[in-house]
Amino acid sequence: MNKTVMTRTFARLLALLGLSLCGTVAHAQSFTLAPLPYPYDALAPVIDERTMQIHHGKHHQAYVDNLNKAIAAAPALSGLSLEALLAQISKSGDVVRNNGGGHWNHTFFWESMTRPGQGGAPSTELLAAITRDFGSLDQFKAAFRAAGLGRFGSGWVWLIVDANGKLKVVSTPNQDNPLMDVASERGTPLLGNDVWEHAYYLQYQNRRADYLDAWWQVVDWNLISKRYAASRK
Ligand code: MN
Repeated sequence: MNKTVMTRTFARLLALLGLSLCGTVAHAQSFTLAPLPYPYDALAPVIDERTMQIHHGKHHQAYVDNLNKAIAAAPALSGLSLEALLAQISKSGDVVRNNGGGHWNHTFFWESMTRPGQGGAPSTELLAAITRDFGSLDQFKAAFRAAGLGRFGSGWVWLIVDANGKLKVVSTPNQDNPLMDVASERGTPLLGNDVWEHAYYLQYQNRRADYLDAWWQVVDWNLISKRYAASRK
């Protein structure tokens, strides 16, 4: 094969690939994994770099990939936002429920954290609501810790605002969350912590309580306060 023929063949191959890629994009909704909003080692020593790499690059990536596969096989769901999908998750099977929840929960989780000591404090408005509904910030933290420890197996613990504007601590199994129509207590999440063992096992092994206690150091209260303000509009 001479050089000209090779170039022409390559161009034809690229054109074929281009067409094929366009066809895929046109027909399937595709969720994507965003990069973390900080480097993998930013949360150390509270959460180590290796845990963050595996958690984001392997676990979260797998939720995104499996969600995309499931959506491609269920054309009725194509074009729905993730939030719309979760609000009517009872109509979907377990694959969409687990992976759609997994994608939303982890995206929310990464955004809820920042470098140790950089997260500020709850806004005056949020602190007033926490004090009103839990007694104090420490009592809220104690309720959150108890819910995290009380979740048997894998799941999440959340701070939510319910439909009446009341703050509540709730826990969900697996990758469920309070946005799902199947959740026993629904509401707008302000903060969520992942209590699956994959979130902490490399560094904390079986000591979930130590992980839950240390985690407050990386909570981004500035962002949580903005979420609370947005929930009241
Ligand atoms: Mn996780």
